[in-house]
Amino acid sequence: MCIFCKIINKEIPSNTVVENDEFYAFHDINPKAPVHVLAIPKTHYQSFNDIPGDVMGRMSTFMQEVAKACGIDESGYRIISNIGENGGQEVGHLHFHILGGAKLKWGHFADADPKDFF
Ligand code: AMP
Repeated sequence: MCIFCKIINKEIPSNTVVENDEFYAFHDINPKAPVHVLAIPKTHYQSFNDIPGDVMGRMSTFMQEVAKACGIDESGYRIISNIGENGGQEVGHLHFHILGGAKLKWGHFADADPKDFF
């Protein structure tokens, strides 16, 4: 069983932000912003590639609720999902990073030159 499935099953502790029958949101253990929450479906999908459209629709509504619960819906935030090896995905259970609570920088993209990747 993957680490996030274990978190859903409460076999590994986590700090809950919002939960319903289908989705779970909890604080990232290694936050990269004042607010850094992970939103996941309780069903195991490897990545964004695998989530059906109807589930993604409900996931979007759930993430809006998470942003509201964190008090960042008005100030702004960023949603990121890393997908596969090139995307930098480390945990093989679809998750969305919800980041906010401060003016976010654009990371390495700020000065990235596509030529650097070839
Ligand atoms: P990714 O690189 O997109 O796969 O992100 C995985 C994220 O999961 C990282 O930001 C980790 O800090 C986070 N993470 C890993 N294990 C845990 C855990 N037990 N509780 C909370 N967050 C975790």
